[in-house]
Order: sequence, then structure tokens, then C-alpha cells
Amino acid sequence: MIAQFVTSATQKSEWPETTLPEVVVVGRSNVGKSSFINALTNRKKLAYVGSTPGKTRLLNFFDIDQTWMLVDVPGYGYAKMSKSSLEKLGHMMDEYFNEREQIKCVVQLIDARHDPTKDDKEMIDFFKEVSIPIVIVATKIDKVPKTKRIKALKNISQCLQIPLKQVHGVSSTEKIGFEEVLDTIQNMF
Ligand code: GDP
Repeated sequence: MIAQFVTSATQKSEWPETTLPEVVVVGRSNVGKSSFINALTNRKKLAYVGSTPGKTRLLNFFDIDQTWMLVDVPGYGYAKMSKSSLEKLGHMMDEYFNEREQIKCVVQLIDARHDPTKDDKEMIDFFKEVSIPIVIVATKIDKVPKTKRIKALKNISQCLQIPLKQVHGVSSTEKIGFEEVLDTIQNMF
């Protein structure tokens, strides 16, 4: 796989002019989104890991094999965001999800160790409302004992009312689960 950064955008005029299918990756700050993108694309620093939570406020577009685009959406749920920056972020997301026609699915990251948060649920409800297919990725699955992994995935599936077959566990540190996620994504084009 060849993954390349294309551009960052805060508004519609900055979205890249392409019709390639887009896969959007979302999750709350610190869920492991940068690590997930880097592991999925086999690039150590494609998405920057360890940046100040919630600091990146741009849509980042990555070209994958000149076949599809991965779009990294700013992490949400960061308490220290000001009201005005929250509003800007909300506007940017609304515009993108409502107007970008080539979005094929959203990959929502959820920490495998915990119940989905209120913010997670609100995001899922929004994607259901605008009819964007949802793939759930449970991150940091290495931190859940092997015998409890299925149970953790079932719990997330139940909390979010998403079929279990659309919920995949991954570990970026142990490089587990990525082929399954890629297969699922690519079957949606
Ligand atoms: P982001 O804020 O969502 O982009 O999260 P990061 O990718 O920066 O990861 C947040 C923290 O979780 C970092 O300390 C990572 O090292 C850690 N982390 C990310 N993915 C994994 C994983 O699969 N397993 C474990 N054990 N830690 C992880």
C-alpha cells in the first residue's frame, strides 16, 4: 500500500478535487486514531501521534494507492476546546458530511476497554441520520485479556446498536486486526 498526505482543509474550497471514494476516520481524542492510521497504512508518522489532544482542527486527506482517500477528522470530546472553536469544528463537520458525495463509510474508533461515551453515541446517531455506513473499530484491544475480547466487542455492538460483524478489534502496538478492517472498508466502494 502506498499512502500519501494530500492536503489539510478547514473549508469546502480546500477539499481536494477528486472523485475517489472516501473513508472517514473519527474518534475522540486519545482513542488511538493517529496510531490506527499509521498502522493501517504502514507509515510510522503519516498521522502524528502524541500531539496535544484536540489540537488538530483540520480535515486531513490521504491518498491510498491512488484508489481511495482516507480522511482524518479532528478528535472530539476534548474538554478544553473553547465554545467558538467547537462551533467552527461543528460547522466544518456538518458541511463535509452533508456535502461530500463520495463518502463511502465512516470508521468510528472506540476504546475497546470502555463503554462508548456520550460523545461517541452522538456521533453514531449523526451518521445514522445522514445514512453514512458505519464501521466500528475497537482500539487498544491488546489491553483487553484475550478471553474477554469477544465480550468487549459485543458490548460495544450492543451499546451503539451496530451489528457485531461491523465491529472489529485492533491493536496498533501489536498490529492485530488491520487486514480485516481493510477488507471491510474496501468492500464498501
Ligand atoms: P489520538 O489522540 O486518537 O490520535 O491517539 P494516539 O494515536 O496519539 O494514541 C493515544 C495514546 O494511546 C498513545 O499514548 C498511544 O501510544 C496509545 N495507543 C494507541 N494505540 C494503541 C494500541 O493499539 N495499544 C496500546 N496499548 N496503546 C495504544
